[in-house]
Amino acid sequence: MEPSQTDCIFCKIVAGTIPAKIIEQNEHAMAFLDLQPQAPFHGLVIPKMHVASLNQITPSERRLILPELYEMADQVAIKHGFREDGYRCVINNQALAGQSVFHLHLHVLGGGKLKGSFGQ
Ligand code: AMP
Repeated sequence: MEPSQTDCIFCKIVAGTIPAKIIEQNEHAMAFLDLQPQAPFHGLVIPKMHVASLNQITPSERRLILPELYEMADQVAIKHGFREDGYRCVINNQALAGQSVFHLHLHVLGGGKLKGSFGQ
């Protein structure tokens, strides 16, 4: 884990140097709207510290970071009113799985009937 990485777009969002529609944040995590929504609601929950992907965290970091991301996803789902009806959380890990931004992020998709079981 690194505090931030200068060429990382999500670190820039955390630093406030590029804009984003931030919907939730605390000391360790931040949630903001995805620029290209794939569902009626599409948010991203990220750790504020730079972590490139699931592959770059140690087991002890994983035990800290992942619960924080899922906790924030739960808060987002409550705030946006779709927790009870249902929503989907997805982490794309590495390029073949569709990861395009190498700062760990949890997609939170909801706000209506989602297509398929996993992706779009
Ligand atoms: P992934 O393909 O799983 O790495 O997801 C990256 C996501 O980040 C995509 O859904 C993009 O639409 C989204 N994204 C990229 N740049 C931004 C940005 N500046 N603000 C918000 N979402 C972004």
